Amino acid sequence: MSEEGTLIRINEKWCKGCGICIAFCPTNVLKARDDGIVFVANPEACTRCGLCELRCPDYAISVSVGGETIANKD
Ligand code: SF4
Ligand code: SF4
Repeated sequence: MSEEGTLIRINEKWCKGCGICIAFCPTNVLKARDDGIVFVANPEACTRCGLCELRCPDYAISVSVGGETIANKD
């Protein structure tokens, strides 16, 4: 079941294909293309934990629910 309002955005210009977000995602939502850039392979599995956004060193991925970014923690 997909959660309406959950949006995983990947800035392909900023993503360097390090794979950190793929490694941290607990539900295997993210995968890498042949060129290493990440894409959302299983959006329905996203638990909105925010780890991908928190761990990306290049701010290339963001998760928002209903327009609110969820990983904005101090
Ligand atoms: S952690 Fe960021 S830079 Fe690394 S693969 Fe994921 S989105 Fe790309
Ligand atoms: S928010 Fe959590 S479950 Fe969703 S893609 Fe990012 S790491 Fe995976």
